[in-house]
Amino acid sequence: MGTKDVLKNSSASLNVDLSVIIDNYQTLKGKSNTADCAAVVKANAYGIGMDKVAPALYNHTKCRIFFVANLVEGVNLRKILSAATIYVFNGLFPDQVDTYIDHNIRPILNNPAQIGLWQNEKAPCAIHFDTGINRLGLSEAQTDEFLNEKHQLNLSLILSHLVRSEEADHPTNRTQMEKFRKISTELPNVPASIANSGGIFLGPDYHFNLMRPGIMLYGGNPGLPKLPDGIKQSIEIKGKILQIRELDTGMSVGYNAIWTASRPSRIALINVGYADGQLKVSDRHAKVFVAGNLAPVIGKVSMDMVAIDITDEKFDRVTVANDVELLGANITLEMAGEVSTLGQYELLTGIGQRYNKNYNLGAYA
Ligand SMILES: *Cc1c(COP(=O)(O)O)cnc(C)c1O
Repeated sequence: MGTKDVLKNSSASLNVDLSVIIDNYQTLKGKSNTADCAAVVKANAYGIGMDKVAPALYNHTKCRIFFVANLVEGVNLRKILSAATIYVFNGLFPDQVDTYIDHNIRPILNNPAQIGLWQNEKAPCAIHFDTGINRLGLSEAQTDEFLNEKHQLNLSLILSHLVRSEEADHPTNRTQMEKFRKISTELPNVPASIANSGGIFLGPDYHFNLMRPGIMLYGGNPGLPKLPDGIKQSIEIKGKILQIRELDTGMSVGYNAIWTASRPSRIALINVGYADGQLKVSDRHAKVFVAGNLAPVIGKVSMDMVAIDITDEKFDRVTVANDVELLGANITLEMAGEVSTLGQYELLTGIGQRYNKNYNLGAYA
C-alpha cells in the first residue's frame, strides 16, 4: 500500500453516493409537471461537499439554478459552475454590489435598503417576501409599499419561505401560500418559489414556478412522518476499531466514568469522536453496526473516539481494524436522529472535516 492510501486509511471515511443525490433530485423534480427544480447547496451542500454535489447535479440532471446562503459560498460555487444561475439568500450589502456583478451572482433582496442598492443595476435579482417566518424578506407593510411603487429591477425570481412545511396539516402553510400567491399575481411575469423540501410534498399549490429543496436532495428527512418513496440516504460514515479491551465488572470507560461494566465486558474503541461532529449529543442510546449486528455506544463520546460494547457472543469475531458503520444503510439518519437531541439538518451540517471523503457517481460515472 502506498503512503497516500496509508494516510487515507488512518481516518474514518465519509462515503457519498452522488448517484443517490442525482436520483433524489429527479424524484423531487418529478413531483411537479410544471415547476422547475433548483438545488440548495448552502453550508457546503449540508456538510456533504458542494464542490462534488453541485457538478454532479449540473452534469447529470437539468438542474441549472442553485441557492447558497452567503456571498462567499456563491463565489466558490461560481468557480465550480461557470454557467449556472446562482442566488444568495442572505441579501446584499453596500460593499458587495461589485462582487455580485463581477461573478454574475444574483442577490436575493430582503429589505427596501437592499432594493435601493440594486435599483440601478441591469443584472437580474430576486426579492424575498416574508409571509410569516419573520426572518429575512420584506414585511407585509414593505411588501404593499413595494407593489404600489414603480421600480426598475430586473426581477428574475420572487420567493418566500415556509414556517412549518413538514407539518402537512398545519393551516399556517395555506395562509402563507395564499399570501404569496397574491403577491405573485401582482408580479405576473416573474417566476415564483415557495417550496423547500417539505413544501414540495404539500402539493401542486405550493410548487409555483420553481421548487428549491435542500435536505431531501441528500436523503435527509425535514421532519415528515416518513421519508417519501424515492428519496434515499446518500451518505455513509465508516470508522475503524483502534483497540479492544477486556474489562472486569465495576470498571468504567471514558471521561467522567459515566458507564460502568455490570458484567465482565469486551469493549472496542472506534476512531470517530465529537470532533467529527456525528455523535456529539448522542452519548446515550446510540448504536453502531459492526460484524452484521448493532452494538451500543457506551460512555462519553471523546474528541477522537467512541467506545462500544461488544461483549455479546455475536461479536466474538470482531477484531482490531474491523470496519464499523456509524451512519449508512444500517444506521440511518432517521435512527441517528432518534437517539440524538439534534435534527437531521444539524446531523448533516455537523459532519466534521477530518473524514477521508469518497465520492461515487455510481451508474452516472
Ligand atoms: C435552507 C433553505 C431552503 C432549503 O430547505 P430544505 O428544508 O433543506 O429543503 C429553501 N429556502 C430557503 C430560504 C432556505 O433557507
